[in-house]
Amino acid sequence: MAKFLFVTDLDNTLVGDDNALSRLNDRLQQTRQEHGTKIVYATGRSPILYQELKNAKNLLEPDALILSVGTEIYLDGTGTPDSEWSEKLSSGWNRDVVVAKTTHFPELVPQPDSEQRPFKVSFLLQQEAAERILPQLELELQESGLDVKLIYSSGIDLDIVPRRSDKGQAVQFLRQKWKFVAEQTVVCGDSGNDIALFAVGVARGIIVGNARPELLQWHNEHPADSRYLATNFCAGGILEGLKHFGFL
Ligand SMILES: [Mg+2]
Repeated sequence: MAKFLFVTDLDNTLVGDDNALSRLNDRLQQTRQEHGTKIVYATGRSPILYQELKNAKNLLEPDALILSVGTEIYLDGTGTPDSEWSEKLSSGWNRDVVVAKTTHFPELVPQPDSEQRPFKVSFLLQQEAAERILPQLELELQESGLDVKLIYSSGIDLDIVPRRSDKGQAVQFLRQKWKFVAEQTVVCGDSGNDIALFAVGVARGIIVGNARPELLQWHNEHPADSRYLATNFCAGGILEGLKHFGFL
């Protein structure tokens, strides 16, 4: 066994089956102590909603946190986003212009204030409207000279973020910082905003058994031996995948 970089989404990936989570936590804690494995959570949640989940589910303290779909990285339990990462996201981003453009689309329902972040503007958008609206919105944002991207997830969540920002690129940043090669990196997810995790490099990927259709569709269209589709749900699927790849 060697150390590895363990990166996981939270909702419906790490969290969702309490018994399996407790078994997985024991194994992760052990490999972190014995080998120096790093544990990273990569979630769409903001700091407030992350803290709620962490307390409710008694999550292990991570070595780094990727919050707000990759727009914020927190290292070693500090409460301040990593400034090097924030700096990378600043060019081509103007929050006020994004907000102004989105007011032309009444179908976009703003998410609560806690989810509106310096590098993320978030809405609820029904699936039926999404296919019609998203290409139009993307075009308008491009025309205003912004370098942004739209991440639509779980059939409801729309996040507008700087183009350089997603969970996958945040993981690349941490890999370089901590010097983990792709083969020593494993990422786990269940939904559309996790595609970026799986799309980067040749990292090992675990798709949990309860994955959403948009992720399964992407997986089918972009098959890769380095990606494992688990049978078990949530943390049970992660345990299954970690064993498959020989990390545990
Ligand atoms: Mg999820």
